[in-house]
Amino acid sequence: MLVESVVKRTLGLKSWRVKRVTEGIEGLVVDVVPRRLSRPRCSGCGRKRTGYDTLSARTRRHVVCWSIPMAIRYARRRVKCKRCGIKVEAMPWSMGKSQLTLPLIIMLATFAKILSWEEVSRLFGVGWNTVKAAVAHAVEHCMANRDTAEFIAIGVDELSRQKGHVYVTNVYDLLDMRLLWTGEERGKEVLEQFFAEWGKERIGRIMCICCDMWDPYVEVIKERAKDAVPVFDKFHIVQHLSKAVDQVRR
Ligand SMILES: [Zn+2]
Repeated sequence: MLVESVVKRTLGLKSWRVKRVTEGIEGLVVDVVPRRLSRPRCSGCGRKRTGYDTLSARTRRHVVCWSIPMAIRYARRRVKCKRCGIKVEAMPWSMGKSQLTLPLIIMLATFAKILSWEEVSRLFGVGWNTVKAAVAHAVEHCMANRDTAEFIAIGVDELSRQKGHVYVTNVYDLLDMRLLWTGEERGKEVLEQFFAEWGKERIGRIMCICCDMWDPYVEVIKERAKDAVPVFDKFHIVQHLSKAVDQVRR
């Protein structure tokens, strides 16, 4: 497969094309240009707008190709947007001011889930700080683009750090087994905060909420998610039963 095709597919280019690929000491440099007559999209509102001017070319590091470093070079256009003013165009491969392409950010962050950041930095030949920044960017990107309409079963639990001196309250999506929300401290206020941020519409879709048998949580759930069935998990029920049996025995 041609390098051009690989880049085209991995970057999701539709309104752009690969002009040329050159090889230098630093690796492969891919020059990307807009297709003729394509109108740039405003990065503020996402709408197609009239072009305003073109900035000087900028290079972003891309995913390595068979151990050969690769970079994408592109001269960004600016748009004149009725709503947002003069803005740089939106590009599917870039994220804010990052020097890395979005596919590289996602790749580094994915590997950072299974390897130490040190190992990821060695594997991809980037600095430790680059891996750290990629993880932060990936979290930001995924939080902004995640689909939260389908959560119907959530779990609430607290986590203690520093030997029980610091608490955080976590809310999980129980079907997909992933963390949805985190708040400092534990108790009524913090769970209230989750419900306030999550909004009535999404809360209305939740069918069951699992939590430990702690009164402040149960109270808030009954108050804010009336249609959801409260579920107590087996671990906490067994914990209470063991305590009761122990009490009777004593
Ligand atoms: Zn705009």
